Amino acid sequence: MANWSRGREYFQHKQVLVLGAARSGIAAAHLLLKLGAEVVLNDRSKASEADKWIDELEEKGAKLILGEHPQDLLQYGFDLIVKNPGIPYTHPYLQEASAKGIPVITEIELGYAIMEGRLIGITGSNGKTTTTTLVGEIFGLSNPSTIVAGNIGKVFSEQVQESNPSSVVVTELSSFQLKGTRLFRPHIACLLNLYPHHLDYHQTMEDYISSKMRLFKKQEERDYAVLNWDQELIRTVAGQIKAQTYWFSRHEEVSQGAYIAERKINGVGEQWIFFKRKGEAPRAIMPLSTILLLGEHNLENVLASITIAILGGVAQEDIVKVIQTFRGVEHRLEYVTEKGGVRYYNDSKATNPEATEQAIKSFKEPVVLIAGGMERGSDLEELIPLFKTSVKALVAYGETKERFNRIAIEAGIKAVELAEDVSDAVKKAAKLAVAGDVILLSPACASWDLYSSFEERGRMFKEAVHSL
Ligand code: ADP
Repeated sequence: MANWSRGREYFQHKQVLVLGAARSGIAAAHLLLKLGAEVVLNDRSKASEADKWIDELEEKGAKLILGEHPQDLLQYGFDLIVKNPGIPYTHPYLQEASAKGIPVITEIELGYAIMEGRLIGITGSNGKTTTTTLVGEIFGLSNPSTIVAGNIGKVFSEQVQESNPSSVVVTELSSFQLKGTRLFRPHIACLLNLYPHHLDYHQTMEDYISSKMRLFKKQEERDYAVLNWDQELIRTVAGQIKAQTYWFSRHEEVSQGAYIAERKINGVGEQWIFFKRKGEAPRAIMPLSTILLLGEHNLENVLASITIAILGGVAQEDIVKVIQTFRGVEHRLEYVTEKGGVRYYNDSKATNPEATEQAIKSFKEPVVLIAGGMERGSDLEELIPLFKTSVKALVAYGETKERFNRIAIEAGIKAVELAEDVSDAVKKAAKLAVAGDVILLSPACASWDLYSSFEERGRMFKEAVHSL
């Protein structure tokens, strides 16, 4: 890309347009000012007078244009545009920039220009936050300069300002963020899986895949790619990658990477995770029975994390120690507590039926399910077969409660209750459960009918459980 390079010097006296004033745009503007650039920040929405960030940026010399996209804005003659990942490339400014040859990047690329240390990039359709958190904890055990950043809710360009040559920067990346990268080169890059998500933004699956594959684009032979062997689509696109490829698989022994196989100790067989490099003997890492994370999908995240950590030089005992105490990320099959022999799990992040299906499948115990939430017309009926075999009782709440009621009756669930909200649902579920059961909040719907976010919904659930 013409006229765009890494390093702090590049930014001195450059004219930069920051497009989109969300958290990452504001952080990008601050960083650019610090680096000596002249910054214009533009957002279509008017900010409220109470927004502190406006004064702070103006005091530092940024020019703010809020509430409109002036038609002639690009006449300023910008050297660079840093755009919010959510703004589509069909936006008139971006079309004009492309015609004029002005580089357009996301805040991730900006942060990369100044970061120090080793970069680990993690992407995929599902499991990014769980894997990024786990990898961060594994590296963090022995390296206090470990930084966890990116899509996980910690603005990359802000976090990496703390980086130093011994840092490991573990980064969660969305396809939107990756689309705006140019020189971004992770030393270890991981693609967890590919499902048809975000096709409203990407329009085609090809565009979605090619955005994800940008993660590997600048990698060299001394770098590593960590990929899911169990997805044929990923095996197909792997040929484009220049880095050394390592695989992880739940089902097959891979040529190099992490996999599951039986290990016999004193004649007793047990499922273990192994890791091997080409031409070397496999290393037994840990038995599956000692992993606390629930669900087959999380096993995928564990295998990926182990591969990344070994390639990153972490000692095996540190890796095992962290995995054996890692209970997952808040609101994702999060264990809450046990009361009267009943265990409670918070899976508020499950905002679609696929995620709820995975959650239910993670338990052998009888499940009392709490589900419901905003009506988005998703195919909740696809849960019927699993409800038939694996759900003992259902408490439904929110906009979709009547729909869930019908589905539960169709599935032959005998105990069905309707509740006002999650807190009410907890009380009703507790009455339906006996010792040995699991009470699971896995709503299969978005939270916005009653709560501001899935996080708030999950917190309400935990409060209700603790005050039972
Ligand atoms: P992301 O950050 O990619 O949204 P999370 O780690 O937050 O992923 O997990 C979100 C949900 O995705 C989980 O509750 C679970 O239902 C599902 N999930 C997690 N890991 C995987 C995986 N490896 N494969 C398929 N689904 C997964």
